[in-house]
Amino acid sequence: LGRWSLQGKTALVTGGTRGIGRRELGFECFSFSVPSICRVVEELLALGAAVHTCTFNEAELNERLKDWHARGCRVTGSVCDVSMKEQREHLVRDVACQFGGKLDILVDNAGICIRKSAMEHSAEEYSIVMATNLEPAYHLSLLSHPLLKASGSGSIVFISSIAGVVALFSGPIYGMTKAGMNQLAKNLACEWAKDNIRINSIAPGYISTSLTEGVFSNKELRDNILSRAPLRRAGEPEEISSIVAFLCMPGSTYTATRSGRACCPGSRAGAA
Ligand code: NDP
Repeated sequence: LGRWSLQGKTALVTGGTRGIGRRELGFECFSFSVPSICRVVEELLALGAAVHTCTFNEAELNERLKDWHARGCRVTGSVCDVSMKEQREHLVRDVACQFGGKLDILVDNAGICIRKSAMEHSAEEYSIVMATNLEPAYHLSLLSHPLLKASGSGSIVFISSIAGVVALFSGPIYGMTKAGMNQLAKNLACEWAKDNIRINSIAPGYISTSLTEGVFSNKELRDNILSRAPLRRAGEPEEISSIVAFLCMPGSTYTATRSGRACCPGSRAGAA
């Protein structure tokens, strides 16, 4: 059963205070329900991991930490705007301190989405989406590499998006960042297999979180989106966090984003 457990593992989850990181809103009938149980952070905690999370909203972070500690959870947190290089460096220093120089799991979850057409985006919007979604995937992976390597069996999971795989009718910059994460995952899976670090990128469709609140509150848009979803409904955060948890477990040690045989002969990375 140890293959299906995260007992003794340590994890850094960015943006873990709401949404896929921690579910805050329910969308039953598209009205807000009572804040529900969480997602990635709580899933990893439930499976036995100790978790460090971050958000740039200090009040929200403190409130979540208070809840978690009241429930006896092994979770710590830092205020960090992941779009800022120095703050990312500070975050990983906190993590190194917290977990004694080792880290088993990095979940790059924090992200923003601006739904506009290409011509409508301002230069500032371009920069902020790139800096929040793509740069941390690269930089936090690099910063965490020594810690993940020291653990002997590291796992990185990028929360990408279906928007990085297929073209949608808006949000081209968001799509670029997510496609970039997918490619980065393939390259790193190839490069870091020798260090026993696996990298996976998962690409969810529409999930009921605060990020999609605007989309789902527009009936026409919602009906259009859901009519194209095979299950005719949005996904729930727990349907993503379960995949993340699987990708962090000893049970998935031959699962890594497809790295391409030509560029990576002999890699241990499997195909996902
Ligand atoms: P939410 O907006 O609900 O939550 C995003 C989280 O990221 C929040 O905790 C937020 O913190 C944090 N965050 C945002 N910007 C920063 C920043 N600069 N620094 C630190 N933390 C930050 O989004 P979701 O849970 O829906 O999305 C999580 C990930 O999943 C994103 O990467 C998103 O692109 C991806 N995704 C989501 C889909 C969906 O349909 N919901 C579909 C596909 C992918 P705060 O609370 O302080 O704002």
